[in-house]
Amino acid sequence: MKILVVGGAGYIGSHMCKFLAAHDHVPVVLDNLVCGHRQAVKWGPFFEGPMEDRGLLRRIFSEHEIACVMHFAAFCYVGESMTAPAKYYRNNVAATLTLLEAMVEAEIQGFIFSSSCATYGEPEKIPIPEDHPLNPINPYGRTKLMVEQILADFRRAYGLESVCLRYFNAAGADPDGELGEDHDPETHLIPLVLQTALGQRPHIDVFGDDYPTKDGTCIRDYIHIQDLAQAHLAALERLLDGKPGGVFNLGNGEGFSVRDVIEVARKATGAPIPEKVTPRRPGDPAVLVGSSEKARQELGWKPRFADLETIIETAWKWHRAHPTGYGD
Ligand code: UDP
Repeated sequence: MKILVVGGAGYIGSHMCKFLAAHDHVPVVLDNLVCGHRQAVKWGPFFEGPMEDRGLLRRIFSEHEIACVMHFAAFCYVGESMTAPAKYYRNNVAATLTLLEAMVEAEIQGFIFSSSCATYGEPEKIPIPEDHPLNPINPYGRTKLMVEQILADFRRAYGLESVCLRYFNAAGADPDGELGEDHDPETHLIPLVLQTALGQRPHIDVFGDDYPTKDGTCIRDYIHIQDLAQAHLAALERLLDGKPGGVFNLGNGEGFSVRDVIEVARKATGAPIPEKVTPRRPGDPAVLVGSSEKARQELGWKPRFADLETIIETAWKWHRAHPTGYGD
């Protein structure tokens, strides 16, 4: 089947394309290369351009018989969303709406959306289930929730079936070492820790060590990129089978602290990785861990790269071999 992967040149999208190709699908990529990397598009046709370009979308849908659309093309920095909300609402919501309208026009019935645990806001219970209240505390989380709501309306009005996957912390890299994480600027913990191991940064900042957790640092649910791809494939098969969509958490169900990450990275890299405790980052809850029971039950999904060692080792394989990322 041909699957349109919007944002297929980015971190999660490019891993998805490789995974789709390995499972006999053809990923057709649409990416504006604002965050993505041309070198990461290798497994199917590539269209460079914005997803709000209605003409380009029409062209793609007329040239390729697309069975389903996977959407990874969002801005994803919580901090930036606070200072530049217009950028987030325009790209993550308005441009997505254009994409969805073009899909309705082309009568494409399946959509898989990268949503986020940021839709929950401050957790009231851990692990967080899908029916937890949705009170996002930043524009980024609100954009994800708005698209989920738009999708529910599009299902009712136009029969567009969708699966929303609420990711916890996507991490790790392609086990073959061919693809990895290359953001500019980098803000995520694991790549920053590995850049410190490479000597590219003098130390890693630990954003607060006075949280009510086992070692005082924040706990997050890191999920391997390959496990995310596996869940998307299960969601795709579900939609292609004509089953209803829905909302699913994707996490390990196990939390690791900032200090756990640094400690495992020291072992994996053999580097000292100096750390410096700095004030808390605004908007960081102490613990964010999801329950992925529903995905296990209904998608038959099970994380296969769940331990932190594997997550960090695959990321290290990429960073060590590509110290400047894709080099673009
Ligand atoms: N973090 C940190 N130092 C950094 C970057 C992140 O201590 O330089 C912490 C951050 O406070 C959070 C965890 O690492 O508790 C994961 O942050 P990241 O930005 O990777 O993902 P987020 O949870 O914000 O999606």
